[in-house]
Amino acid sequence: MQIEKIPEYELLQEEMIADIHSRGYLLKHRKSGARVMLLENDDENKVFNIAFRTPPADSTGVAHILEHSVLCGSKHFPLKDPFVELVKGSLNTFLNAMTYPDKTMYPEASCNDQDFQNLMHVYLDAVFFPNIYEKEEIFRQEGWSYQLENPEDPLRYNGVVYNEMKGAFSSPEEVLDRAILNSLFPDTPYGVESGGDPADIPNLKYSEFLGFHSRYYHPSNSYIYLYGKMDMEEKLRWMDREYLSKYDAMPVTSQIPKQPAFSQVKEVVLEYPVAENEPEEENTYLSYNVVVGDSLDVELCVAFSVLDYVLLSAPGAPLKQALLDEKIGKDIMGSYDDGIYQPFFSVIAKNARPEQKDRFLALIRETLEKISQTGIDQKAVAAGINSMEFRFREADYASYPKGLMYGIDVFDSWLYDDEKPFVHLEQLKIFELLKEKAGQGYFEALIRTYLLDNTHASVVIVNPKRGLAAAREKALEEKLEAYKASLTSAEIEELVKKTHRLTEYQEGEESPEALKCIPMLKRSDISREGTKIYNTEKYVGDTLVLHHNIYTNGIGYLTLLFDTKDVPSHLVPYMGILKSVLGFVDTEHYSYGELFNEINANTGGISCGLQVFGNTKDRYDTKNMFGVRSKALYSKLPFVFSMIEEILFTSRLRDEKRLYEIIAKLKSRLQMSLASAGHSSAMLRAISYFSRTAYFQDQIGGIAFYDLIDTIEKNFEQVKEDVFSKLEQLMQMIFRPEHLVVSYTADEAGYEGIEALIAGLKEGLYTQPVEKGALKYDFRPKNEGFKTSGQVQYVASAGNFEEAGYHYTGALRILKVILSYEYLWTNIRVKGGAYGCMSGFRRSGDGFLVSYRDPHLKNTLKIFSETPAFIRSFQADEREMTKYIIGTISELDVPMNPSTKGAMSLNAYFGKLTEEDILTEREEILNASVEDIQRLGDIVEAIMNQNIICVIGGEGKIEENKELFKEVKPLF
Ligand SMILES: [Zn+2]
Repeated sequence: MQIEKIPEYELLQEEMIADIHSRGYLLKHRKSGARVMLLENDDENKVFNIAFRTPPADSTGVAHILEHSVLCGSKHFPLKDPFVELVKGSLNTFLNAMTYPDKTMYPEASCNDQDFQNLMHVYLDAVFFPNIYEKEEIFRQEGWSYQLENPEDPLRYNGVVYNEMKGAFSSPEEVLDRAILNSLFPDTPYGVESGGDPADIPNLKYSEFLGFHSRYYHPSNSYIYLYGKMDMEEKLRWMDREYLSKYDAMPVTSQIPKQPAFSQVKEVVLEYPVAENEPEEENTYLSYNVVVGDSLDVELCVAFSVLDYVLLSAPGAPLKQALLDEKIGKDIMGSYDDGIYQPFFSVIAKNARPEQKDRFLALIRETLEKISQTGIDQKAVAAGINSMEFRFREADYASYPKGLMYGIDVFDSWLYDDEKPFVHLEQLKIFELLKEKAGQGYFEALIRTYLLDNTHASVVIVNPKRGLAAAREKALEEKLEAYKASLTSAEIEELVKKTHRLTEYQEGEESPEALKCIPMLKRSDISREGTKIYNTEKYVGDTLVLHHNIYTNGIGYLTLLFDTKDVPSHLVPYMGILKSVLGFVDTEHYSYGELFNEINANTGGISCGLQVFGNTKDRYDTKNMFGVRSKALYSKLPFVFSMIEEILFTSRLRDEKRLYEIIAKLKSRLQMSLASAGHSSAMLRAISYFSRTAYFQDQIGGIAFYDLIDTIEKNFEQVKEDVFSKLEQLMQMIFRPEHLVVSYTADEAGYEGIEALIAGLKEGLYTQPVEKGALKYDFRPKNEGFKTSGQVQYVASAGNFEEAGYHYTGALRILKVILSYEYLWTNIRVKGGAYGCMSGFRRSGDGFLVSYRDPHLKNTLKIFSETPAFIRSFQADEREMTKYIIGTISELDVPMNPSTKGAMSLNAYFGKLTEEDILTEREEILNASVEDIQRLGDIVEAIMNQNIICVIGGEGKIEENKELFKEVKPLF
């Protein structure tokens, strides 16, 4: 590329960034002052991002509300929701917008050139020419507004961000995380909440919101990023012509100031709500947090990520272990966060007692003192560096495009220093440097400087309080009541009018002309090719080895699967414990800490998990497998097998202290995940009332599993013997040669030698006779309402349409897109104020609708029940249908990494899914007509008629609606 040919831009830096196989350019748009970064390479999964530095001055959430609002229509795309229109009909591989404490970004990715250009166009138009100035309704819908349908109703707040943040503030971990950030940087933008505190959001005025846009959404304050294989000259010319040339550079004061260091450690004490039945004892969070240099110092950032692993994150890590040994907290967490200007390191003890604070702090200090004097564990350092390096080289970010992750990483330096945009992309040389310095007192010195002799630190304590949620709810009601009482009847009339005007705005149809503005692909842009399955059946004796022959850049992805069909019902949930124990207890040759480090110093890790495979042709045929997974360079595979053998054959299961630690941590992590992913929890639970796959998942990781863990944790002394003996029985029952199937992703070269290793492993497997059982499914429509201390609901409705005599068709995938971005979006999110809503229809016949962070409950169920009527009256012209079809295909055609291709092929194998089935589904999608969609009304009605619901929600709301449930109980 020759930048000189485009005089509108000035080339500031150019360099080869070998670590990520890209050529990097840093440019400045001369007229507008826009910053532009190009990363040129062969990646087809192209990424565009435009970001602005948006330091908030208060906690009204203005940056966040603006992020939502600019996507609600713009000059060239004058729709209410062009973002949603785009998602429906685009082949994007990523499309979203995110608000951070100091920046707001609008990234998109696509493998299709035209699609990529379309998305870029809509995003640039959105940020520079949004309709927010003309339509106050956008602010009222996305931010906050008074809601008053009738003059006599109680006054309420509503708004998408308002409700989203109410959900976010329901979780104690989020309350703690925010308090930590705020505590360390009180005089900077990090001292306030950029997402918005629900208590402060209603203080935001429309005029201030507009002012924030005009101040910060200017090219001079922008960061534009282009990544991948494309004609970058053309993109640069187009951006100049259509947007950037319309602006003159202007100074924008948005630099992130540095917080001066404290002269003494600060202390903050806060409260968080727990439900009526949840304990206030042993439920405090203690945290110690310390600021570590700045994010421009990449070596320091990488070194501290290593220290986080060594000191805190790895099992047996000294800080964690010291706290656990003294029973200060039952779950030790913490992190090193370098996504802001001044990164910080935190140690958090969960389930602690407030009076343990002094000992907590003293113990951290003693432990660090000792390490800085006697030296750090070199094996742990090697493991920490290797696992980071492995991840960096593998660059497997699951469904996230690589270019997106790099595009986010660059802000760790670019946002704070225009001269240093690329430094976080060049890490390989730093890994080498750290390996050299490790034995020379380097890490010990870092501990001394930043963790011991550093007063820029805070102690943040968050205590539980019963009745806090209800008290806050009541205070809010009273505040609103008092406000309403202060209004004249004319003013009340005005509020009612405004409420109706907003509803009218939301219900108004988009004009067909406006809809046509949204650029769209043609059906011919869609490839007719279906997803490929990579399965070659090979055998070692009678053991099936499923070889997924794929180029993997020298990494072998191995999964040993053991069929658990002989495990009786009463032992099934204990498999969920077994998977958390194996690899985390001592073995013959290693303590568990050593074991973990030995593995991570040589491989990409070894982990256990449970996987359920459902036959797509017969929902009564499921396979529940215990998996042992690893990834490693080909040359390290013999090592991988030797370590798996060490774990399977020599683990010391009878370790009381260790078992208790594992159980307590499991309980803590389940509490966090069940509540924060309440939509998944409610949905899984509802489906478990009738589906084999979901029933199993609930037993080994859902609410049923939580109940078991909770009982064991509370009665540990009485039940520990029983747990040990069950785990031992399971070992014998599961890890037998006749149960083994191997799934292995690698090319031919990587396959060499694997068969001998498998044969060797088989010899050690258990062969003693054991009693056999089987899982008995206890299916009942329990329709439970689970009470939490949260302020929002997760409402799920589910059923099985095969049961009712219907069959799966690809059109159901289109329906999912239609519901997600049309019916459910409009009714549950836009009008209802919930943050999200999802639906799904599986080949097994299982189907569901679920809401996310929802202020409602009964109303949501009513909207669900009216879905069939919506579907039957569904109308769409050719253009609209094409849009939905493209959106559906884009969900199918997500580019896959080698490991994902292997995993997908494995699923297809046990699911009895062929390439032909995949093609048939694709044809059903591509050929679907409006009538095909309308007919699906029957399928959804069949699901709804089964009357199966499960809700996780605030205790008040659940109690209010208890007639809807068969059982009402606390979640925890
Ligand atoms: Zn949001």
